[in-house]
Amino acid sequence: MVIKMSLERLKKEMVEMGEFGRDPQRKVESYSDLDPEKGVTRPCGTDANKKARDYVVAHMEEAGLKVKVDKVGNIFGRLEGKTDKGVIWAGSHVDSVLNGGQFDGTLGVMTALEATRRLIEEDHENYRPIEVVVYTGEEGSSFPLALLGSSTLIGKVTYDQALAAKNRDGEILEDTLEKIGYKGDFERKLDDVEYSLELHVEQGPVLDAEHIPVGIVENITGLAWILATIEGEENHAGTTPMKMRKDALLAATEIVSLVNKNALDLLDKYGGSTVGTVGRFNALPGAPNIVPGKVEVGIDVRDVVEENLTFMIDEAKKALKNLEKKYGVSVSLEMPFGVHKAAPLSTEVVDTIELSAQEVKVTAKRMNSGAGHDSQNIAEKIKTGMIFVPSIKGISHAPMEWTEWEDIEKGTKVLTQTLKNLSMKK
Ligand SMILES: [Zn+2]
Repeated sequence: MVIKMSLERLKKEMVEMGEFGRDPQRKVESYSDLDPEKGVTRPCGTDANKKARDYVVAHMEEAGLKVKVDKVGNIFGRLEGKTDKGVIWAGSHVDSVLNGGQFDGTLGVMTALEATRRLIEEDHENYRPIEVVVYTGEEGSSFPLALLGSSTLIGKVTYDQALAAKNRDGEILEDTLEKIGYKGDFERKLDDVEYSLELHVEQGPVLDAEHIPVGIVENITGLAWILATIEGEENHAGTTPMKMRKDALLAATEIVSLVNKNALDLLDKYGGSTVGTVGRFNALPGAPNIVPGKVEVGIDVRDVVEENLTFMIDEAKKALKNLEKKYGVSVSLEMPFGVHKAAPLSTEVVDTIELSAQEVKVTAKRMNSGAGHDSQNIAEKIKTGMIFVPSIKGISHAPMEWTEWEDIEKGTKVLTQTLKNLSMKK
């Protein structure tokens, strides 16, 4: 009975949060309520983002949590423990991509709040403090630096650097935060924080396809982009003989199947979760009667195993360079952010989540995350774990993103139990 009441409370709050940034503003309670054209748009610093933050803060305070906001707008709602050391964080983000869904990020914040409230209502006497966390600007959809709040917390960027970040309109984060009332006055140090949890939608199809309600993330994938420009010779399609061409597109097509083949080969060899995608392929000038003179190719490769990721990168680079000789083209390469290394999550926390799932009788499976999250930053400094719940058809960052309420309840149970178990560690 208690659990049922709690799901209703969480569902009501998730639905209300889903109104902020939806145009027209309306409640979406089930998959059939979704409009494939109209999702949630709530980038960091927008009016909708402010409303979502205000909503969370009001509910944190109502639950008796003490709310603090740091200089870059990260929000912490704290439940004191018997000690003030070994703090446990649980949370995610409330900003969204343009025209995204209502669960990505928000679900991690609202389930963390719900789990904390359940502990309070059960009179669970937590030994350690618990903080419900909202990270600023995870998506990078207004300020181009993704994972902004968590990058600042771990010192990857300084508070000053983050505050000087400019959005698409040229406004700096500091002014934006002032405007929405979330420019706090302190820098959150991590010395007293020991564990971090994040519940998130899977954003992939595995749990949905296998009908498993909860995923326990062991690794967050490593990622690299290779952006290549292949230049040949733009020329007349009628008068340039076949053997005298420098066709940039003909050369570039080799890369598409090569990246795909390399990923499949690694999968055959090791199982694992290698992916390789050529997601950008732009042939210029793009007329049927002109031999293409230039092609822009964008490659995305990901793997949780560093050697595999390196293999994917090296092979793609080598193949691109080989095109020069074979087709008489020239190739230039760029890796805009280098390599984001894979982040292994804490085995202690992973084991605790698994045990907690067993205790509350929820089926769970260990898996990897193919998408990036604040937790991959936090994991560099704090023992971190992630709990996934299914995304219907694997869809996310789109209006049709959906997770069934019963799966959300199961994920929340596992999160609550994990929080309970970690909070009693001496
Ligand atoms: Zn997210």
